[in-house]
Amino acid sequence: MQPTSRHDTGLTPPRATRPLSRSVAVVRHWNGGPVDADVYAGDPEAERRYLRAVQRNHMTTNRLAVGGAADVAYNHAIGMSGTLYELRGDDIQGAHCPGMNHQSHGVLLMLGNGQKLTAAAARTLADYVERHQKRYGTDRQDDHRDHRPTTCPGNQIASLNTVSKLRDYADTVESSDAAPERPTELPSRREWVTLGDTGSRVLEWQELLAELLPDHPDAHRPDGDFGPLTKRLTLAAYELVELTASDPDRPRVGRASVKAVENKLDERRSRQQTQPSPPAIEDVSRPVLRLTEPMQRGDKVRYLQQRIERFGFDAGSSGIYGPRTERGVRQFQASARITVDGIVGPQTWAALANFAGDRTPELGRLLYNTSPMQRGEDVEKLQQRLASSGHSPGRADGVFGPATESAVRRFQMSAGITVDGIVGPETWGELWKR
Ligand SMILES: [Zn+2]
Repeated sequence: MQPTSRHDTGLTPPRATRPLSRSVAVVRHWNGGPVDADVYAGDPEAERRYLRAVQRNHMTTNRLAVGGAADVAYNHAIGMSGTLYELRGDDIQGAHCPGMNHQSHGVLLMLGNGQKLTAAAARTLADYVERHQKRYGTDRQDDHRDHRPTTCPGNQIASLNTVSKLRDYADTVESSDAAPERPTELPSRREWVTLGDTGSRVLEWQELLAELLPDHPDAHRPDGDFGPLTKRLTLAAYELVELTASDPDRPRVGRASVKAVENKLDERRSRQQTQPSPPAIEDVSRPVLRLTEPMQRGDKVRYLQQRIERFGFDAGSSGIYGPRTERGVRQFQASARITVDGIVGPQTWAALANFAGDRTPELGRLLYNTSPMQRGEDVEKLQQRLASSGHSPGRADGVFGPATESAVRRFQMSAGITVDGIVGPETWGELWKR
């Protein structure tokens, strides 16, 4: 029984490998949710594509959850076609089951909930366990759920826990008309996808998300893996199209979600055709910047983002005025006590400019009374500013001590802002308004 090599499957090389010194068991896993019908049907190309997606998921999208990130988590995989695939391979530590990674071989059965093990796969698993016995002296089969609170790899596989049970099962399936080895009818597909799923439907959803929310902080390249980024992006999309996720931890994406997003995109496109395009921003020095469709982009936006960032608010740095930038603008406007509308017009530009040039202290840090005391030009500017606003901290010595803190508190109280003795964007904003 020769596994299909990881090279032939098209997996990328591991970043690191650690050898196994012993192997006391085969640890069995499944996909969780059902795999796509073509994968379950044992289509060789679909099986390889699926394994590449699993690897990408473990090495990038989901690397924290899996822990290793050095490679796909398992040592081998078995397709429902009966093909054995080399993943990490023999004698290499996996990242599939904490506590067992250094002393077992992890095998992924390429099926999930609601899908029955095929005779071919059962037979390959039996062969695999016998192979393990020859090499390592034990035919012990563990399941992921023996070690962790998980359903993996499901009740059916868990019940087939010896080589002879696996072989009997394969014989029974083969002699039964009701359960052909290769499913001739595709299993009924779940109507939705969610966190942890891979495949073409995930890819299609990600492409819609990319078009809907290009500037979202979690925007990412569609890759067919429903990972944490896609989850967060999905929740943001739901907010935008006013859908409610019944389970925010595992938002379901079905036909209704796709339809709602497509409608939103259609609506956008038709609005674009009837509305004048947003002002070109390259040829005005202080253009009105705001969230538009299509989004404004360019150096002016980038300049705005940098300025807002200096006040301690996150506005992104992409040069694209998207929802993230709008959020940063609103936060800045609130702290500067000007109209909070997310639109950068003359008033907001002026507020930003008030901090520009030589009137501006470096707004790189929060100022407060700490040990050792903060000192520097920024503290000195603060002290001068406090004095000219009628809350003198004493001599402007550039050291933030108790007298400066008390002056800050007095100033904050008189300005009607949070009295905490800490000088951040809000306090600076008030100080420079006076
Ligand atoms: Zn598992």
